[in-house]
Amino acid sequence: MDVFKGIPVAPGVVVGTVFILDDERVRIPRRKIRKEDVERELERFEESLKDSIDELAALRARTEEELGGEAATIFAFHLGMLSDRTVTDPIRERIRTDRFTAEFSVSAAFENLADRFARMGDSTFQTKINDVWDLDRRLLRHLIGEHRSRLDYLDHQAIIVAPDLTPSQTASFDRSRVIGFVTDAGGKTSHTAILARALDIPAVVGVEKLIQKASDGQKIIVDGDRGVVILKPDEETIEEYTRRIEDLAKLRLSLGELADKPSITTDGVEIELHGNIEFPLEVETVLTHGGSGIGLFRTEFLFLNSVVEPTEEEQFEVYRECVELLKGKPLVVRTMDLGSDKAHDRWAFPERNPALGCRSIRYCLQHLPTFRRQLRAIVRASALGPVKVMFPLITTIHELRQARLLLRDVMDDLAEEGVDFDRKMPVGIMIEAPSAAIVASIFARESDFFSIGTNDLVQYTLAVDRTNERVAPLYTAAHPAIHRLIKDVVRAARRHKVPTSICGEAAGDIEYTVLLIGLGLRSLSMTPSLIPHVKRIVRSVDIGQCERVARKVGSFDSERQVSAYLRDVTRTIIPEAFDGRSVE
Ligand code: PEP
Ligand code: MG
Repeated sequence: MDVFKGIPVAPGVVVGTVFILDDERVRIPRRKIRKEDVERELERFEESLKDSIDELAALRARTEEELGGEAATIFAFHLGMLSDRTVTDPIRERIRTDRFTAEFSVSAAFENLADRFARMGDSTFQTKINDVWDLDRRLLRHLIGEHRSRLDYLDHQAIIVAPDLTPSQTASFDRSRVIGFVTDAGGKTSHTAILARALDIPAVVGVEKLIQKASDGQKIIVDGDRGVVILKPDEETIEEYTRRIEDLAKLRLSLGELADKPSITTDGVEIELHGNIEFPLEVETVLTHGGSGIGLFRTEFLFLNSVVEPTEEEQFEVYRECVELLKGKPLVVRTMDLGSDKAHDRWAFPERNPALGCRSIRYCLQHLPTFRRQLRAIVRASALGPVKVMFPLITTIHELRQARLLLRDVMDDLAEEGVDFDRKMPVGIMIEAPSAAIVASIFARESDFFSIGTNDLVQYTLAVDRTNERVAPLYTAAHPAIHRLIKDVVRAARRHKVPTSICGEAAGDIEYTVLLIGLGLRSLSMTPSLIPHVKRIVRSVDIGQCERVARKVGSFDSERQVSAYLRDVTRTIIPEAFDGRSVE
């Protein structure tokens, strides 16, 4: 039995057999053509381009129908790449000037592009490399014919083990056969991961060395909740996981009943539970899981998924769709939080230390026309329902003042143009840098609300990169420093009557629910599927109990003590829900 640890990207647990998918990239010989053949070769290329574009348009439509808009944006991104002349002109150039065959020119151009993405040293670019190979393969298929994938021979239920998967490969999975997948490469925000979630196939990526050890037909367990993969499990482990799969199915059913129940403690205090979303499609998921609004709309994904900047109109349409789906429930739109691990060569640039660089509000304030377009779209949406705007990574009061000034200016312009909007639209900030947390009382005087972003607050307070698996054990919201910062922020906010929510991953982790309520938070925003789990805790505790837990946590010296204690507290409240997530 071999146990591997990777990055969980799509939840669920499956037991099955291995099917290796190790399709080699097609090798294209470096062949020259005669001068008189150049025009014909260019024509061949244009034809393959047109066929690929037609195919992608059909694929996008089909994906939208079967899996929804979020999954379809991936093929919209592919279409955008192929329609972008900065991508295709180097191919034409290579045929015309260097006189290489169309297939070699395509292959060389995409290799160059993939190399450029790889050199960016940034996880967002790394995840795009797959998209580049996908397009390369598609164009080559039209030029030189089908390269049959092993996947075509899969005639039974199996778990795919692959070095990497392209989005097209993932989208083409037959769900009745592919019950899970594991890859060597990949990250949480890769398109392949997004598709796995849309397809509802448990998946773990970043599992190094598995492909060397695995072979077809071996038994394998994929735990997409915890990022664990077990190759050749023993009987006892298989039984344990089979029980867990049954428990999870029961838990899913009983949690479904909670959706319509109010989120109140046993002594009647309401705890707002909101959802964090990246795409409008997820609004529906938040509502069906019993969420009462959107506490964080990560709008940067609108920019990351597009090769060109979305226009004001396109952005407005997205916000409008969200407001309409929410039917009067609140929507917090966070202005684009680009940079650091959420980068794109159109919106950011390579930096030596991107997490401390020109990201988030800093980027926006250096790119005012782009920022203005987004603010105009948000302000216009405020006419249609309760929209709030939130600025990310505020570290100095000047950033907040500058952003507010720009917002006022945008509002004045719109008023002059006779456009409707809510002049009193609340303006809030993310508290996700220690500087903002420490002087929260200063920010409270000029903010309408706060949202504590523990993901970055932990990263910057503990000096631990949130994306680096080598220091992952040091990255925890249980550290006493985080406890103290949250406590101080909530106190300062209360004194100034500034409503405060929390939207980092800790908000959706049931081990933290009691503590966060005990620290005075009454609004939590999280990954939509976690809302029922947190609601279950909320409905099982009273405020006094939560405050006692928070006081006790305040007396601990180390994150280990805090974690162990919070685990015990949670296990006592709902043992069965906790058991499902704690199998080690
Ligand atoms: C955070 O930092 O806690 C947060 C919610 O923002 P993001 O995860 O998008 O950085
Ligand atoms: Mg953040």
